Amino acid sequence: MDRITLGNDEFEGRNNAYVLADGDDLALVDTGIATADVRDELREGLTERGYEFADVDDIVLTHFHVDHSGLAGEIQAASDATVYVHGADAPLVEQDADAVDALEQRRREYLDSWGVPDDAQAELLSFLDATAHIEGDPADVTPIEDGTTLEVGGRRLETVHAPGHAAGLCCFEIDGGDEAFVGDAILPVYTPNVGGADVRVERPLEKYLTTLETIAERDYDRVWPGHRDPIDDPTGRARTIADHHRDRTANVLAVLRNHGPADPWTVSAHLFGDLEGIHIVHGPGEAYAHLDHLRHEGIVEREGDEYRLLEPEADLDGLAPTIDAGCRG
Ligand SMILES: [Zn+2]
Ligand SMILES: [Zn+2]
Repeated sequence: MDRITLGNDEFEGRNNAYVLADGDDLALVDTGIATADVRDELREGLTERGYEFADVDDIVLTHFHVDHSGLAGEIQAASDATVYVHGADAPLVEQDADAVDALEQRRREYLDSWGVPDDAQAELLSFLDATAHIEGDPADVTPIEDGTTLEVGGRRLETVHAPGHAAGLCCFEIDGGDEAFVGDAILPVYTPNVGGADVRVERPLEKYLTTLETIAERDYDRVWPGHRDPIDDPTGRARTIADHHRDRTANVLAVLRNHGPADPWTVSAHLFGDLEGIHIVHGPGEAYAHLDHLRHEGIVEREGDEYRLLEPEADLDGLAPTIDAGCRG
């Protein structure tokens, strides 16, 4: 797969834009953030391949996060490209005022209910203000959904909805075959944030574990993530991340056993220590995702903004869903 590696100091590390080209037929999967440096990197990458922004016919976005969608609007303005993203994320890529307001309000409500102190909330807001410029211009979006087939850049992409990290996150299976683009559904180094990265997602951990199961079941030979290098054992990586979440669930229970009842900010402090920048929402969001999952499983209960252990000796192996050996067919 042909990828252009893009800088990104703000979020999970360097981003990938993938180039699908068949003569004049040119498509990008993700675009990187809208900074001058990244714009130059992407433009130079296309130039090396004999293209410019104006030649792009289609832009396929894995999800709304700005490190994936940032330059889409600008490239669309230069090329009249069609921009595809899942319907759940489309209003945010279009920067629809109501959708943006609703997201910000929901984040404020969550930060309050998670017990995030005022000074940490103020620090988060100043970080978000300082990085607002990387969002770029709005794009006109053609919404897609699970199962949508796209014929772009000489390839056939099948959309596989993979919510959790973001409501509209999608993987794209390439030519009905053994490889896929996965955005931030699984990453080679980090565990994608769940709970804070998109506060619109209901029951985020459960959705994400189902997504990991989907990826494992499809048993790809290789996948192409939104950050860093390709993953040659996607099924193994999905299982490793699921195991990691199981360990984290056990750690959350241990915090409640030793320090509970506690709100997500307190649980987060025991898990992750001091937080800064975007982690001020990612840390307690992740703690919340686990506490919410445990609440639905009847292992903890919520009292006001605090969570209390109901079953100190909970059997985590019984927590649904679990990942079995993935085998396609
Ligand atoms: Zn993301
Ligand atoms: Zn990302």
